[in-house]
This record gives sequence, structure tokens and C-alpha cells, in this order.
Amino acid sequence: MISKYYLDNGFETIAFTDHTPQNHVIDPRQTIRMDSDQLEDYLTSIHHLKDQYKDQIKIHVGLEVEYLPELMGFYDRIKDRLDLMILGQHFVRRPDGELIVMGSEKLTDQDVDLYADLVVQAMDLGLVRIVAHPDYYMLNRTTFGPAQQKAARKICEASLRTGIPLEVNLLPPFKLNHGKLNQVTYPCKAFWQIAGEYGVPAVYGLDTHHLPQIDDVQASIQTARELLGTENLDRLHFVC
Ligand SMILES: [Zn+2]
Repeated sequence: MISKYYLDNGFETIAFTDHTPQNHVIDPRQTIRMDSDQLEDYLTSIHHLKDQYKDQIKIHVGLEVEYLPELMGFYDRIKDRLDLMILGQHFVRRPDGELIVMGSEKLTDQDVDLYADLVVQAMDLGLVRIVAHPDYYMLNRTTFGPAQQKAARKICEASLRTGIPLEVNLLPPFKLNHGKLNQVTYPCKAFWQIAGEYGVPAVYGLDTHHLPQIDDVQASIQTARELLGTENLDRLHFVC
């Protein structure tokens, strides 16, 4: 049924990238990701859809993962069953080991630096094909100071170096259009202005949490363009 929504809206290729499960609970937020024992069902069902719709739409089997060095063993074990992984870095770890989950807590400037380092490491390792919401560190923040600029530059430089595209996330623009958000802090115009300076490779990502987002894709892109500045987005190299 989900695939039919995409077909009706003219999509030719889609990638399912649910949040990866964690063998050990790192991110304590409830209902944000499948349990480890649901992974098998997830993979089987998307592979089944891929086969079922193969003459109509190309379906990629993927996961949205976070990077921490100790998670690499798990990713190595599952990567053969996936077409791609995308990075959605939702937490950082401070030097004392404390894990800061974005959205639950506000990041300090030091946390923003740690966030950028994790994103860059994941790209340099070739772990992921796309970086989802690279400006997620702007969640719950409206000021874009030197630390935020530095993080943007590090991430954009890594994107150019590795050729890994950065995603303009369309979920907040969708929510804004539907009155579910009053203000969009990410995607963040100041970040995408820097990304435009670098001319990084980019993609629009639906981040589909709600089916109406699929029908609404053009409206969400239009709102993103207004929020982030067409002059900035037109300098990016959209790869699909
Ligand atoms: Zn995400």
C-alpha cells in the first residue's frame, strides 16, 4: 500500500530506511525505532516488496543508522542484506561517556563539535550513502554562532571530499504546512547557505513518518525552498 502511494506520485525509485534497531539500548526514546527482534521481519517485508513491484518501481532496502565506533561490528554483519545505509545521527557521546540524545536535551557548542566529528567519521569510513538531516544539531536552537558554522563547514567539506550527498529534510517543512510546527529550526537556512557556498551534492528526503507526506512532496519542497532560500539551494548539486 505504501508503494502504491509512491507509484501514484510518479516516484521511480524509493529507499526504505527505517531507524536501525540497537542491540544495546543507546537511544532510550520510545517508539522511535524497531526492536532488534523486528529487524528480520522488516528486511523480509521490504525484500518482498522489492520483488513484488520490480516492474513498476525500484525499491532499495535500507536503514537509517547512527555512527559510534562500537556499532560498526553490527553494521558489518547486516550490510550485505541492505542496499544502503543512510546516516541519521541522533545522539552524541561526551568525553566522559555520557550520551546526549538530541531532542531530549539541548546541545552545547562542544556537543555540536562532537556531532560534526561523528558525522565526518561516518562519511570518511564510507559507512553511509547519504547524510540525512546534517543540520539536525539545530533542533531546538535558533542561534547559529561560530560553533554551528564550524560544524557546517566540517560536514560540507567532508561531503565534497567523499561525494556523499547531504539531505534537505522535508519533514519539518511538511509539518509547518500542516500547522504541526510553528517554526522550523532544521533544515536551517544558515547551514544551507554554507552548503551552497561549497556546492555540495544534495538530495531532498521525505523522511516519511506520515503517508500524506508522499502526496505533498512538491508542496514540502516549495516550502523548503522558501525557508532555506532558492539562492542557496540552487547552488547545490542535486543528485536525484
Ligand atoms: Zn532521523
